[in-house]
Amino acid sequence: MNNFTFQIQYMSTVFTEFSLHPYNTFSVAAKAKYFIEFSTQDELMDLLQDAYWNDTKKMILGGGSNILLTKDFDGLVLKNSLLGIEVLSETSNYYYVKANAGESWHDFVCYCIEQNMGGVENLSLIPGSVGASPMQNIGAYGVELCDVFHSLEALEINTLKKREFSAEECYFGYRESIFKKALKDQYIILSVTYRLTKNHLINASYGALSEILKQKNIEHPSIKDISDIVIEIRQSKLPDPKQLGNAGSFFKNPEINKSEFDSFHREHGNAPFYNLENGKYKIPAGWLIEQCGWKGKVIGNTGAHKDQALVLVNYGGAQGEEIWKLALNIQTSVKEKFKIEIQTEVNIY
Ligand SMILES: Cc1cc2nc3c(=O)[nH]c(=O)nc-3n(C[C@H](O)[C@H](O)[C@H](O)COP(=O)(O)OP(=O)(O)OC[C@H]3O[C@@H](n4cnc5c(N)ncnc54)[C@H](O)[C@@H]3O)c2cc1C
Repeated sequence: MNNFTFQIQYMSTVFTEFSLHPYNTFSVAAKAKYFIEFSTQDELMDLLQDAYWNDTKKMILGGGSNILLTKDFDGLVLKNSLLGIEVLSETSNYYYVKANAGESWHDFVCYCIEQNMGGVENLSLIPGSVGASPMQNIGAYGVELCDVFHSLEALEINTLKKREFSAEECYFGYRESIFKKALKDQYIILSVTYRLTKNHLINASYGALSEILKQKNIEHPSIKDISDIVIEIRQSKLPDPKQLGNAGSFFKNPEINKSEFDSFHREHGNAPFYNLENGKYKIPAGWLIEQCGWKGKVIGNTGAHKDQALVLVNYGGAQGEEIWKLALNIQTSVKEKFKIEIQTEVNIY
């Protein structure tokens, strides 16, 4: 790796032409024109107060588990390494716990389970950082981040003013928040405060979870039981990015309205679907992709995983552009066969 340090001295080092290969779970080779890792808010402010960076494009990087780098990043990558977890307050029912954005999400989940704080156990083993958890309202096994979210603190990049966001102000949706839409690239999330239970509401509604509980004869699972089973399922189902580059589900499950669903269902009566509370229908994107023949297909160094069609993988040496081309081809074929548009869950750069 040929990294050259920057001439201007800040509290932390700015690297130039910095390899992002170890910083994205797709393991694609791409460089950042500038790169800095900050572990205190002072370090971040010290850098951003310099007008030199005003017109430079910026990317906030957590664990790199939800990005696809299709080319070198012609700007400044800010790697968030703000650490620390603090119990702010407690009531008879809840703990209010603040975690700094650079904490690993799964380490935070483990901390909560050790402290007997409930609510995040179904979200065990999701890769990435605390700071990215509100970005797409991470979700798994019947629970979403918004179920435990209290507030977050973020820094507005243009004004360097800090602002607190409530849940309402984050506009959480299915793998969405205001930070992926109207406020995209405008704020750096510094910390997130979660509301965690003392009297746990165990959510074992998800099929695979309740099945394993039955097999193990666990009638009254603890939050640790749920976490252990979620980890077991995830390890058996999903490719480990350390072995096979990927970013989890590449596409979101499409939601279609009643008239679209009626014509889809007339033609594809065997398709799985979920009725949503808003009157729409959710179709598993993995099923749509599989029906188009992509599951297990290898194209060059990339392909759709053999067990999870929704997970695009880097078999080794794939360029981001190559993975993106595959994604576009998948999108087109789903559109042609089913007249349904599938949107990316992964952030494309
Ligand atoms: C094997 C695997 C399984 C996965 N399973 C799930 C799953 O079950 N459910 C799920 O929801 N997701 C899942 N994901 C996706 C991913 O783990 C999550 O989206 C995670 O929250 C991304 O965190 P990160 O720190 O890696 O974000 P990054 O990839 O670093 O960043 C993602 C986006 O958020 C922005 N961002 C990151 N940190 C900040 C910050 N502090 N302030 C402002 N913007 C920021 C980035 O600029 C980027 O646009 C999976 C990924 C993998 C590889």
